[in-house]
Amino acid sequence: MFSVRQLYDLQLLDWDIQSHEQELADVNGKLADDSERIAAKNLLAGLETKLGELGPAGRLAEGAVQQTEQRLAAIDTRVYSGMITNPRELEAIEDEKAALQQQHSEQEDTLLTIMVDTDETQENKDRAQAKFESINSHREEELVELQASRETLTAELPLLHERREDMVVEYPPIAMATYDTVAKMRGGQAVALVERDTCQGCRIALARSELQAIRSNQNIVQCGSCSRILVVN
Ligand SMILES: [Zn+2]
Repeated sequence: MFSVRQLYDLQLLDWDIQSHEQELADVNGKLADDSERIAAKNLLAGLETKLGELGPAGRLAEGAVQQTEQRLAAIDTRVYSGMITNPRELEAIEDEKAALQQQHSEQEDTLLTIMVDTDETQENKDRAQAKFESINSHREEELVELQASRETLTAELPLLHERREDMVVEYPPIAMATYDTVAKMRGGQAVALVERDTCQGCRIALARSELQAIRSNQNIVQCGSCSRILVVN
């Protein structure tokens, strides 16, 4: 014989199904979200690209410095050789030397800037590499756990639905209709327990006549305030 209390068992099972479905949705969301790992990978790739560009730039700047130094050395050789005696020619050579020295100083500044940038980029790249590896290995572990959870939840859900079908097969249609209507209306909670003569769904005190009807457990009694089906614990 059907007892109203069985609707409470149905509610507990429905909550279990809902929490399984919610958990499965969360797990699927986490499995699909690889954004942290992708961001770390992109940061690392950007720094690797920058380092790749700084290498040739540094070699170019170094070559320019060396070339200017060779030209300066050639000028000194000419000046100290004593071959040039014409004062105007000597003056022109001194001017050329001064211009080259200025150029040399600028080229050294450029080279130094590139070297400092290279060091900083290398340090940032090493940090980004370590961070990516840590995120990557953590994510790999997480994926194993998430996939295991998904498998468990995916296997359990059909069993819960089967249990529900078995459970409600002998429930009177009127009881099921009331249950479904109130569940929709009350956010999935169709049944409220009665404790200390009070509906635990809305905390309203119940009349003596209502309490007697509820205790019989035979007819569905709905709370006059929140419409939930009342069950004595
Ligand atoms: Zn109520």
